[in-house]
Parts: sequence; structure tokens; C-alpha cells
Amino acid sequence: MARRKKIYEGKAKILYEGPEPGTIVQYFKDDATAFNAEKKDVIDGKGVLNNRLSEFFMTGLAQIGVPTHFIRRLNMREQLVRNCEIIPLEVIVRNYAAGSMSKRLGIAEGTQLPRPIVEYCYKDDALGDPLVTEEHIAAFGWASQQDMDDILSLALRVNDFMSGVMLAVGIRLVDFKIEIGRVFEGDFQRLIVADEISPDSCRLWDIETGQKLDKDVFRRDLGSLTDAYSEVARRLGVLPKSNVTKPTLIN
Ligand code: C5P
Repeated sequence: MARRKKIYEGKAKILYEGPEPGTIVQYFKDDATAFNAEKKDVIDGKGVLNNRLSEFFMTGLAQIGVPTHFIRRLNMREQLVRNCEIIPLEVIVRNYAAGSMSKRLGIAEGTQLPRPIVEYCYKDDALGDPLVTEEHIAAFGWASQQDMDDILSLALRVNDFMSGVMLAVGIRLVDFKIEIGRVFEGDFQRLIVADEISPDSCRLWDIETGQKLDKDVFRRDLGSLTDAYSEVARRLGVLPKSNVTKPTLIN
């Protein structure tokens, strides 16, 4: 069998050339990194959970008319996605203060924001993904004004969808990050939600107990990351089968 071509290897995923033109195979690794890869570990099963969870969120978004890169899941760790040109921005939406915003502005974590706040960071690991304004984005040509209008609208739609889905299973969507891709259809370009949506890129808190069910468990050494992600998957009804039916050993 021919070896497939690796296009890119990131911190949590590997991209391979897809079977048809315009497609990519996205492989979810078990690697966890934080603080721009200063903290690293391998978390057994994380890739399987994120593959499932990202499929679940992207499929739901498509059902409400939000375009995404997701085509179909291929196996436990891989999904087929549309090849797109990633806009070099991390689009962050916040409903409650936490993380870098709490630090930057001195607002206590968990404070509800008066309205969802959208922030943009320039995707550059070497620079630590710095916060940028729409002025930088326009001046350096990372996205046009029309793109920015579309990105804002996509980000807020994803926020409404994700907030509702999580609320229904007793989880608060504190904040999240998405990436946006450009696809060309004839003479037109369209923006779609790309990369992944998973507990690696969201802050998810149990509404009753405040328990963290996202990557902060790893960043802040709060316990088992797999347990936290499995809990999210269990509540959403998307636990991978192998976790549901653990083989029983009979001696
Ligand atoms: O660290 P900060 O508070 O800015 O993160 C905001 C949200 O964006 C969090 O949900 C975090 O998981 C996500 N994020 C991400 N990738 C980054 C930076 C932040 O997924 N490089």
C-alpha cells in the first residue's frame, strides 16, 4: 500500500493528503501541550475523544447551516475534512471571564460578561499567538473587512450553538477558540469553520459544581484529562464504543 503524504504535523493533530482532491485526513494525536508547548504529555485516549467530539459539534453546526470543513469520520482517530486556506487568526469568544482575559484585565474568573466578547490572536507559535486588533488584521492583509464581518457572524453563531448544546447537559461554555478557513467555489470564496472544536479549545465548567471539564485540567494539574473529556462525551452521548464496553476478563 502506498504511504500517504504528511502535509503538516501540529501539536495535537497531523494532516495527511486526502483520497480526493480538495480533501485532507485529519489525525488526532494523544499529545497534550500547554503554555505554547512548554508543558507536554501524552494522554491516552485524548485523540479518540476529540475526534468524536469535534465530529459531533461540526455535524451539529452543519445541521443549523453553519458551514464547516468536516466531511466524515473515517475511524477512531481520523476524519476527512475539506482542504482550506486557514486564516492566520485564532478567533476566541468569551461568555465568562477566564484565562488570559482574567489575567490581562484583572476580572475574577467566572464573572459573566455583559455580552459575548470576540477576540483575535495572530496565529504564530514563535510569538505566542499575540492578541491583535482589527486594525492589525486589515493593515497586514490577514483578512478583508468582508471576511471580518463573516468571521464575527460565524463566531457568534458557533457560540450560540455550543452554549445551547452544553447548557442542555449541565455544562457552561465559558469560552472557546475556533479557526476559520477559506474555500474557493468557482469565482467565489466562502469562509468555513475549520480545525477542531473540542475540550482542548473550549473552557467547559459543570454548572452545578464548577468542575472544569476541559484542557485547564491539564494546564493546572487538576486531575485526569481523559476522565474530564469522557464526562463531556458521556453527557453528550458520544462516548466511543470501546470506552462503553470495556472487555470483562473471566479467568
Ligand atoms: O488562554 P485564553 O484564556 O486566551 O484562552 C481562551 C480560549 O481559547 C480557551 O478556551 C482556550 O482553550 C482556547 N485557546 C486555544 N488555543 C490557543 C489559545 C487559546 O484553543 N492557542
